[in-house]
Amino acid sequence: MEQNKQQKRPFEKVVIAGAGPAGLLLSLLLAKHGIPSLVLEAWPALDTRLRATQYGVPATRIFRQAGILDAIRAVSIPASAFSEISWRRIANNHEKLVTLDMSCVAGHEDRMTVIPLGDLVKIMYQKAVEEFEGLIEVRFGWRVVVVGQAEGGEGAWVDVDVDLGPEEGVRRERVEAGFVVGCDGAGSTVRKTLFGHEWPGTTFDQRIIVQNVWYDGFEKHSWNGGTYIVDNDTWAMVARRGKAGLWRVTYGDVGGLTDDEYLARRPYRLEKILPGHPKPNEYQIGETNIYKMHNRCVEKMRVGRILLAGDAAHVCNPWGGYGCMSAVLDAGGLADCLVGYYEGKADENILDKYAEIRREKWIKYVDVRSRKNFDRVSKADPWTVMETDKFMGILRELEGDEEKRRAFLLNWSSIEYDFTQHYKTANVQKEEQVVDEQDLRLVR
Ligand SMILES: Cc1cc2nc3c(=O)[nH]c(=O)nc-3n(C[C@H](O)[C@H](O)[C@H](O)COP(=O)(O)OP(=O)(O)OC[C@H]3O[C@@H](n4cnc5c(N)ncnc54)[C@H](O)[C@@H]3O)c2cc1C
Repeated sequence: MEQNKQQKRPFEKVVIAGAGPAGLLLSLLLAKHGIPSLVLEAWPALDTRLRATQYGVPATRIFRQAGILDAIRAVSIPASAFSEISWRRIANNHEKLVTLDMSCVAGHEDRMTVIPLGDLVKIMYQKAVEEFEGLIEVRFGWRVVVVGQAEGGEGAWVDVDVDLGPEEGVRRERVEAGFVVGCDGAGSTVRKTLFGHEWPGTTFDQRIIVQNVWYDGFEKHSWNGGTYIVDNDTWAMVARRGKAGLWRVTYGDVGGLTDDEYLARRPYRLEKILPGHPKPNEYQIGETNIYKMHNRCVEKMRVGRILLAGDAAHVCNPWGGYGCMSAVLDAGGLADCLVGYYEGKADENILDKYAEIRREKWIKYVDVRSRKNFDRVSKADPWTVMETDKFMGILRELEGDEEKRRAFLLNWSSIEYDFTQHYKTANVQKEEQVVDEQDLRLVR
């Protein structure tokens, strides 16, 4: 132990840009191995806008590894309140096309995690400050403006604009570290410093309008868990979000309108989407956010001592809940690689493995599947989709087979990867067990 303490480490600390799920989770996973990190967050507080609410099984496994799963489950809605995902068309009172019944995994610790992103990052932040004082420091109002490599290649630096308040303005400061990790989201400054403003992929024309909705009609009409509405005009996803009749409704609209124009069309959209086709006086709307959608991925997730993770490296449309799940898998994978290098179990080039493999996983699976998911709800014909869409056929088959459904929901996914197999100390090469080509991290 004493000998370990004196062992020379290949780096001292990691600077992480962004206190979103990727950045905070990475800091927690590093701290568990005694690796200090400094998390720099541009805004004065955590970002709690309406975004993710569901995270597939691969993410759940990393939440457990980070020691936050119990805290998450304690505030999540119970599994019984989110026991199925269904696909419906609007006609015939939202006729169900197919249902994925998840009650067979309700008692399993790896089951999907359901919690609004704002609450998730609060749990991560609380754990960081309460349990890892001295190892994790989070500084708000510290905006990374540019990054660079240290001379000699043994580290990296960030220049930061520190917000000193309305009177004093901003102070520019340089922070150095062994590694800098850009977890600063889709508009990442770290990525733009490395590669400029352009990055390969697509920005979709349509917008999504996301809102919290209180409506007792969901329960009256026996909706449970998540629902995808397959419709060329009003495609949507609806998910139970909390106790007391709170649901999250996300639907698409054409591009090019003002926010006011989108909101003026909302009663028409919600009347089509919600069970019972209610008028505005029958439901209540809370917080609302309007987003563009993109599917884009950076050319490289590592340049020297600077790495990218999460939305900073790749973004996808929300159909299928792949965005944050990918961010979580990046954080888990990168933590394993940095820990391996720090503890002398791996060479520095394990970080190239991280960069190559996580990018490949995104391109081969996440990009392809999230685009298919989006096309399924927005472009497929709701009257023929059950026959024309292979994935819907798979779901239909699963309906009657609980054992296969359990495997489908819980098995090792093709988007997961165990980087510890590249440790020098690993005596068995673990095979990546890809179970299911179609994968069902689709549950959003
Ligand atoms: C409507 C919607 C629904 C979604 N639903 C799901 C879902 O159900 N499941 C799922 O898995 N994913 C979902 N996603 C995607 C998910 O929200 C993102 O993939 C996830 O938030 C990415 O995490 P991140 O930490 O990489 O980036 P972010 O969450 O964007 O965090 C980045 C952080 O960096 C900070 N930052 C930015 N610039 C700087 C800078 N220059 N210096 C310092 N800090 C900076 C930001 O303020 C922010 O706090 C959804 C997204 C949307 C829009």
